[in-house]
Amino acid sequence: MDYYGKKIGSLIEELSALPGIGIKTAQRLAFYIVNMPKERAEALAFAITDAKNNVHYCKECFTLTDRELCPICSSEKRNHRQIMVVENVRDLAAYEKTGEYNGVYHVLHGAISPMLGIGPEDIKLKELMKRLQSDTDEVIIATNSGLEGETTAMYISRLIKPTGIKVTRIASGIPVGGDLENTDEVTLKRALDARTEI
Ligand code: ZN
Repeated sequence: MDYYGKKIGSLIEELSALPGIGIKTAQRLAFYIVNMPKERAEALAFAITDAKNNVHYCKECFTLTDRELCPICSSEKRNHRQIMVVENVRDLAAYEKTGEYNGVYHVLHGAISPMLGIGPEDIKLKELMKRLQSDTDEVIIATNSGLEGETTAMYISRLIKPTGIKVTRIASGIPVGGDLENTDEVTLKRALDARTEI
């Protein structure tokens, strides 16, 4: 990338290291950025560092937020006795988009995968069990439908069962191996409505 000179070369390199950004897109973005008005380029750079410096996990549900408690956990309109367990923040966003769920969430940040060496202690499970010490009516397990998601669902179910709290699993309207974030809203709503106790 030397034909552009070092400065633009390193901008292209940084951009192409982002997920889903190939070298061509990185070049297009880099040229777009250097042609931006100075204030806009500075606003973009600031938004990146500001988010990086101030966004952390919600201390209750572990989604990303810039507050101590995310807007969902701090809302009085949500049912705090119903907790939906999801693998990641994108899955939470997918269910929020349906507008049909009124409970709160718990983000695991991963799924159990013996093959990848990810065990129960590597995801936010301890934190979930701790939350269940306060009044909870139902835990809805909405991990993905692939092997890892199912393994995680069974593990959580076995863990919670002795507490007497109702544990449900979203229906398998979601294609096997499919990610929640790539599933349309109608299917997500149907999967939630048709959840069964496990
Ligand atoms: Zn939260």
